[in-house]
Amino acid sequence: MQALPTQQKTSDANAAAQARYRNNFLREVEANVEGGEWVKMCMQCGVCAGSCPLGAHWQHTPQKIFMMIRAGKREEVLKSDAMWMCTSCYNCIVRCPRKLPITHIMHGLASYAHRLGLAPKMQPTRDFSIQFWKNSTQTGRVNELKLTLGLYFKDGLVAGIKKGWSMRNVAFGLLKAGRLNPFELFGGHRCKDAKGIAAMLNKAREIEAQHKHAPN
Ligand code: SF4
Ligand code: SF4
Repeated sequence: MQALPTQQKTSDANAAAQARYRNNFLREVEANVEGGEWVKMCMQCGVCAGSCPLGAHWQHTPQKIFMMIRAGKREEVLKSDAMWMCTSCYNCIVRCPRKLPITHIMHGLASYAHRLGLAPKMQPTRDFSIQFWKNSTQTGRVNELKLTLGLYFKDGLVAGIKKGWSMRNVAFGLLKAGRLNPFELFGGHRCKDAKGIAAMLNKAREIEAQHKHAPN
């Protein structure tokens, strides 16, 4: 099967990163991941792993992820779904004796893996993040009805209808309570300053691109 343009782009980005940082995954993380320059400061005390309310149920705890980065386990780290499970509770950051921005690094790694096309497919947090981003950046406000339907129908028409049907009582309850407006499907609320939102997003992209191409 011929690769789709987006797949081609991410696979090219992955190949370029591999060529550029060959055998030095730590340097790659430092140059491309938010907070990545902090990874070398980790002293493997394990406090973050012990403090994370969910880490024990993940493939790898933050402590293990940082050790794997330094050991050059590129594929294992970037293809892991551990970073996608972080709930941003900040327990680890508060307790880390070295003050590593662990939460930011976890999200930064997830984002980098996504940009390279290595993030696990069908990962629910990733799916939700993609839908949420597309939805909220169009008008500057989240259209909850479209977001919900987007998630229901992401696996196809039949799966969407089944999911929608299973949630019909909740939908009717929301309708009765005035919390669901079917007309949101045809437009809905939007921010007044659309140009301002677009300018803000462009600036954020510019800052992110500068970080990604920072000298290392
Ligand atoms: S608490 Fe901080 S220093 Fe300790 S293992 Fe976690 S990241 Fe490393
Ligand atoms: S912020 Fe994320 S990694 Fe840190 S303790 Fe909470 S869930 Fe775990």
